[in-house]
Amino acid sequence: MKTKFPMLSMLFLAALLAANAAAKNSTSDAQAGIVAPEVGKSLPAWSKGELDIHHINTGRGDAVFLLLPDGTSLLSDASGKTVEQAPFSLPTKPDASHPPGTWVARYVQRVLSSRALPERSRRQLDYFMLSHFHGDHMGAIVPDSPLAPNGAYQLSGITEVAEHLHVAKIIDRGWPTYDYPAPIKNPTVDNYRKFLDWQIVRQGLEVERFQPGRNDQIKLLHDAGSYPDFEIRNIYTNGVVWTGKDSGTRSLFPSVRDLAPADYPIENTLSLVFRVSYGKFDYFHGGDLSNNDAETAFDPPAWKNVETPVALAAGAVDAMKANHHGSWDANSIGLLGNLKPRVIVVTSRAEGHPAINAWKHMTSKDVWPGERDIFVTNVAPATAATTYGIEETAKSTQGHVVIRVAAGGASYRVFVLDDDDEEMRVKAVFGPYASN
Ligand SMILES: [Zn+2]
Repeated sequence: MKTKFPMLSMLFLAALLAANAAAKNSTSDAQAGIVAPEVGKSLPAWSKGELDIHHINTGRGDAVFLLLPDGTSLLSDASGKTVEQAPFSLPTKPDASHPPGTWVARYVQRVLSSRALPERSRRQLDYFMLSHFHGDHMGAIVPDSPLAPNGAYQLSGITEVAEHLHVAKIIDRGWPTYDYPAPIKNPTVDNYRKFLDWQIVRQGLEVERFQPGRNDQIKLLHDAGSYPDFEIRNIYTNGVVWTGKDSGTRSLFPSVRDLAPADYPIENTLSLVFRVSYGKFDYFHGGDLSNNDAETAFDPPAWKNVETPVALAAGAVDAMKANHHGSWDANSIGLLGNLKPRVIVVTSRAEGHPAINAWKHMTSKDVWPGERDIFVTNVAPATAATTYGIEETAKSTQGHVVIRVAAGGASYRVFVLDDDDEEMRVKAVFGPYASN
């Protein structure tokens, strides 16, 4: 988080931290028992004090797993089938022998097997956050989706993850009424609500609606006192954005009463947006937030350009997940020019991710100055042909992307992991980057 020190003390502090980090980096790692990551070997387990952000690649949608400094676990989205994959789909990774939700759960279980975690934390997800109600984030339900062994609901995405891990709390944009901007009814959401009802009664699941502005809805649950400079700030959902002051919010969208149903905001534009801060490190996660039809309209109403006010509320960050898989309707100049990320992770799930216009925004130094490294979880041959230059410029074009922030948040590294199997083999290491 950005603390407001006078400029001189900030500079002094920065110099001190940098000198300190340089002197201590290797020796303190060894003292703390941290294994150095090596290309070709499995990623060393998370250690207490580190912040891990795993962009898990199933080829089938978003699943970002965060292991927070005290061992609190948070999965944002669960990947999953979309109702229609063809004709732009990518292969399921590692392979088609399991559905995406199961691959996500197995990946999370491997990260949670770290001996630095207490026994009970190794089988539990403390938080599951659902960015919005689309199949590539929650798992679409189709007629042949298998029934859960308990018979109460069908399995796909998040409901599959819960077959492998106990889920303690779910936070989404709709609980408990699921009615903004209109009642949300489809087989996937109907099944999800049956799943919530069953889990609440039988497993003690807690469910909450994501509340923009707060920095205490998602918190460290195991040892918060040791990490006072860690925070997750809820920035935005459902047209309501944080004002930047205390937990205040303001509405960006007109009231539903004043809109014709055809003009209602679309699902992606309602995505949860949050910022993770650890010391000087900041990470932005905006789900599938996009400007959508504002990108193809001559003079769209201002409220449809939702990315800019959201980015202004979040402020500059070190790293971000690209919005909406790097799609054409997201990652606008107003988003990127305000976030100014050093590291961008594009979680692509189809041909055309990232789109050429979004790629141009991400790579242009006229949008914001300074270096930036871009990592893409999949680049299909069709994408390489149309988003030209991507193979030469992207730091990676295939694999899981892990951001590992050092204890205290002053620096971080990026690991690209082989997604052909479950060994979590390191393909490449980037950094350390200094947090800003
Ligand atoms: Zn999506």
